[in-house]
Amino acid sequence: MSTDVRPRPLTMALSKGRIFEETLPLLEAAGIQVSENPEQSRKLIIETSDPNLRLIIVRASDVPTYVEYGAADLGIAGKDVLIEHAANHPGGLYQPIDLNIAKCRLAVAVKNGFDYAAAVKQGARLRVATKYTEAARAHFAAKGVYVDLIKLYGSMELAPLVGLADAIVDLVSTGNTLKANNLVAVEDIMPISSRLVVNRAALKTRQAELQPILDAFERASRPAVA
Ligand code: AMP
Repeated sequence: MSTDVRPRPLTMALSKGRIFEETLPLLEAAGIQVSENPEQSRKLIIETSDPNLRLIIVRASDVPTYVEYGAADLGIAGKDVLIEHAANHPGGLYQPIDLNIAKCRLAVAVKNGFDYAAAVKQGARLRVATKYTEAARAHFAAKGVYVDLIKLYGSMELAPLVGLADAIVDLVSTGNTLKANNLVAVEDIMPISSRLVVNRAALKTRQAELQPILDAFERASRPAVA
C-alpha cells in the first residue's frame, strides 16, 4: 500500500508549438518559469518553478479530454478544438477565459478559379473536406447549403487539388499555406483564439490553488486598451 499522501501538483495540459510558446508569457505573469522546451527535451511531463504546478504535453485535440476526465486540472485549447469536443461532451468543461493567444480564423477555401459563389447559388451539393466537421456542419446548415462532409485529420489543403473535395474548412493565419497550394479563402466562419479550460471538480476542490493562476492569466491576456 502506498504511504505517499502528498497531493498531486496542479496539472496543466498544453500542446506543443504555438500554444506552448504563447502560454509562456502568461505563466511568467503568474510568476512561473518553465525551464524546458518540449520540442527539444521530448519530455511529456514538465516541471515548473512552482512545485505545485506541472505541465503535460498532449496533442491539441486531446487537451479537452485530459481536462474533462481530471487527468489535468486545467488546460489551454483553441476554440476550434473546443467546438469539436463539445459536440460529444456538452458542458463538460468550464471555460473561464479567452486568452487571446494563437489567434487565427476558421475559413472556407477553394482551388483558385473555382466559382464558390456560383456553386452555392446553384444549390449543388458541395463536397467539403475538414478536420472541423462540427463547426463546418453548423456553418453550412446556417447558410442553408447542402454539403457532404469528408473528415480528414491533416493536410486539408490537398483535398481540392486532387479532387477529393470542392472546398475545405481550415484554420488560416497568414494565408501562406493556402497560397502555396493555389487555394483561396472565400468565406470566414469565425475568429479563433485559445481559451483556458478547467476541470469542473477541480474548480471546487482546488479552488484556492487555481484562483491565483486564473487571476494572473486573466490580467495578462486582457487586450490592451488603446
Ligand atoms: P498560415 O499558412 O499562416 O495561414 O497557417 C495555416 C496552417 O497553420 C494551417 O495548416 C492551419 O491548420 C495551421 N494553423 C494556423 N493557425 C493555427 C492555430 N492558431 N492553431 C493551430 N493551427 C493553426
